[in-house]
Amino acid sequence: MYTKENLIFMDQALNQAKLALKKEEVPVGALIVDNMGNILSKAYNKTEKNKCQTGHAEVLAIQKACKKLKTWRLDNCSIYVSLEPCLMCLGLIQLSRIKALYFGAVSKEFGSGLQEALKHKLYKKDLLIVGGLKETESIDILRKFFMNLRKLRKVNCERKSRILRKGKKEIT
Ligand SMILES: [Zn+2]
Repeated sequence: MYTKENLIFMDQALNQAKLALKKEEVPVGALIVDNMGNILSKAYNKTEKNKCQTGHAEVLAIQKACKKLKTWRLDNCSIYVSLEPCLMCLGLIQLSRIKALYFGAVSKEFGSGLQEALKHKLYKKDLLIVGGLKETESIDILRKFFMNLRKLRKVNCERKSRILRKGKKEIT
């Protein structure tokens, strides 16, 4: 179950995802909050910009929060992510001792299959996981991104074939 406060924080994670959308990154946003409800960090996916998979929103948000608190232990913190974290991010969330994970949409392709992944005994075992917050909004943003991508590919394809046709005409 989740509270009104959880939804407000998820809204902010979604705002981060929207920023990623503007930058033509896969729109995923993350937010870290301490147990007093103070926002420690916000981040959005920068995998394309950083040209590295460590640019996931969760990784960047965790880095910022650790820097702010000057510790890798985020015991009393919660993370909000607009999309179900991948295996790498779930591992990092657990290793960072984060107490609760709230996410929006389930990621069928890259999601970590949370229940299975939580079996790693070395990692934090009592991580509270709540999914499905603002799920529709999260999916809408992702859908927009992939629609734009398809449109862009179509335009590029048409442009290529136009150039090819033009080239042929010039030859004949
Ligand atoms: Zn990830």
